[in-house]
Amino acid sequence: MMSVSDIIRTDIQQMTAYAVAALPPGAIKLDAMEMPYRLPEAFRQALAAKLADAPINYYPNVATCGLQETLRDTFQIPSCARIALGNGSDELIQMISLLVAKPDAAVLALEPSFVMYKHNAALFGLNYVGVPLNEDFTLNLPSTLAAIEQHQPALIFVSYPNNPTGIAFERKQVEAIIEAAPGVVVIDEAYGSFSRDSFLPLAGSMEKLVVMRTLSKIGFAGLRIGYAAGHPSVIDELAKILPPYNMNQLSLATAHFALQHYDWVLEHVDILKQQRVRMQQELAKFDDVEVFDSEANFITVRVPDADALFTALKEQGILIKKLHGGHPLLNQCLRFTIGTPEQNNRVLEVVNAFFG
Ligand SMILES: *Cc1c(COP(=O)(O)O)cnc(C)c1O
Repeated sequence: MMSVSDIIRTDIQQMTAYAVAALPPGAIKLDAMEMPYRLPEAFRQALAAKLADAPINYYPNVATCGLQETLRDTFQIPSCARIALGNGSDELIQMISLLVAKPDAAVLALEPSFVMYKHNAALFGLNYVGVPLNEDFTLNLPSTLAAIEQHQPALIFVSYPNNPTGIAFERKQVEAIIEAAPGVVVIDEAYGSFSRDSFLPLAGSMEKLVVMRTLSKIGFAGLRIGYAAGHPSVIDELAKILPPYNMNQLSLATAHFALQHYDWVLEHVDILKQQRVRMQQELAKFDDVEVFDSEANFITVRVPDADALFTALKEQGILIKKLHGGHPLLNQCLRFTIGTPEQNNRVLEVVNAFFG
């Protein structure tokens, strides 16, 4: 007799599920680059009234919901770009991978980077090529260009700034990758709002360029709204394979509301950027902490014993991300999401006590 385990793909059976850490009550959550601020009470009341009116008896209509135009206005997306909406940019990573999944096609990404690029390549039977970054997490352009030349990837992902290292690669190097690419290049700007630079102004002007962004890191991770801006040659094809009802009425209505209050978002992004500078300076004062430069809402550090510091923070109710073990280059590395000034004070207290 056949059992389901004979039917389900062996490679999937060998995977482990993406684990979202359980949070003890009162804990400070600095592991997933969420914004620590919530909309103020008055906004939330207004939002509640708006959601009460949302037509949840009807399927959402992504084409006519108007969110693309609101995103275009808010983020100055060029008029020549098409915009696809995803249930989080995670869904767009998945669907763009599926879009190019011909037999023998390759996906190239830098390493360490966002784990979903490799995961989705595996899911869709694409050959995955991971090109290691330099030890200081800068981009190794010669080896990247050599890998592009050798493997002719149908799809390249560049996280700009890079997660989990925080560094924004040199723009010129990323331009060289786009130039050399034989296929689609996704510039994943999940942290674009915290960065000095962006490729969004080029969206739509080059066939192979897709710029991907998300509302997740700027206050709305729970909404699951990501978007990809690019040339019609890619985005119109992508639109064909996105599930027709991938977005939901409540998220769409909330996203509209959130972008009407974009000043609030910017104000809090600014606070976090200032806190990033502060945390970089404060953490760098410890002889045992190597701080990497960051253009995102998190800081990656290397310490003598990542596990010990991770545990010390956890015991004090602070959850960060242990990168150690994820990739050889991330040896003894930890990643701190930037929190509120008060949360950051707590982090510094614990780090101080740990090394003091
Ligand atoms: C967080 C993150 C995403 C996922 O964003 P969602 O829109 O929440 O799915 C995509 N890319 C990178 C590099 C990220 O860090």
